[in-house]
Amino acid sequence: MIQNDLSILVADDMPISCEAIRIALTKNGYHDIRVVSSASEALTLLASHPADVVLADWIMPGMDGLELTDRIRQQDEENNHYTAVILFTAKEGIENLEVAFERGIDDYLTKPVNERELMARLRGAGRIATLQNSLLDTAQELTTTNQRLQEMATTDALTGLSNRRYMQAHLQALLSETLARGGVTCLTIVDIDHFKKINDTHGHTVGDEVLVAFAKRLSREVRPTDTVIRMGGDELAITMYYADSARINPGIFERIRHAISQRPIKTSVGDLSVTASFGVCIYTGNGTRSIENFIECADRKLYQAKSEGRNRVAY
Ligand code: GH3
Ligand code: MG
Repeated sequence: MIQNDLSILVADDMPISCEAIRIALTKNGYHDIRVVSSASEALTLLASHPADVVLADWIMPGMDGLELTDRIRQQDEENNHYTAVILFTAKEGIENLEVAFERGIDDYLTKPVNERELMARLRGAGRIATLQNSLLDTAQELTTTNQRLQEMATTDALTGLSNRRYMQAHLQALLSETLARGGVTCLTIVDIDHFKKINDTHGHTVGDEVLVAFAKRLSREVRPTDTVIRMGGDELAITMYYADSARINPGIFERIRHAISQRPIKTSVGDLSVTASFGVCIYTGNGTRSIENFIECADRKLYQAKSEGRNRVAY
């Protein structure tokens, strides 16, 4: 006997019909069979353990086969699954078949059910369920892959921070929010002082270690709602949004600057002291402001901090 691995759920309020179907299925090699006497029981079982095919009587007290089909389609949608539904109908039910197919049944069988016909139709329904479920799995995999690709495209590989590509969309969203809702958006560009010297003296690998530690330290100093972005090279950006403009003060940047310079960074060649310069630009929602203009403003301030002697904040 061939082992059929479809998972089948039979729902019929007539115990004799259920038993006849169960015996026929078992005889034909199906072994994953569950039998229930109502539509609501069927839904409960399907919620915890989905089936490939549901064989249900059209007429049942409480919830009938069509309503059961509706609820199965709803449940399937939530669980990213497809259950093939075959309804049993008396001869007169054939009149309403168009509606039944529209409501989502996959097939029907007239009562009394003929065993050979049941097996043939079950094979077809099983094929539909398998195909639909493999399509749903593929779609899910594609979504996951796309999300991963999107993440990779917007993440800096060395530091794990968001990258410049992410910054464009992020800044646009912050500027729009500020314009619409008020508050302030603050963009700070932070650049390590004399970073080239670290590369030249200790090599690029140690330079990378400093960049990673620097990114981590900066991230720890800001609020969870702020974003630290690697713009490129040794240049990082911090974006902050304050709904209440009174809460932003220069002390914030001084504190971050101090957190960078107060302790040296541990590297494979020992502790290295690092300082950084900060250029801060604030947008208060007065007039529209382009991303380019906002970045240029913070860049100019950074240049000012560098030219005034580095290891300082300009805003
Ligand atoms: P300044 O105080 O004016 O900023 O001096 P600086 O030496 O830091 O000058 P600048 O910011 O122009 O130099 C950045 C250096 O960072 C140049 C480049 O070789 C190096 N760099 C860029 N990307 C990486 C990287 O991914 N890893 C390492 N190790 N170095 C990088
Ligand atoms: Mg630098």
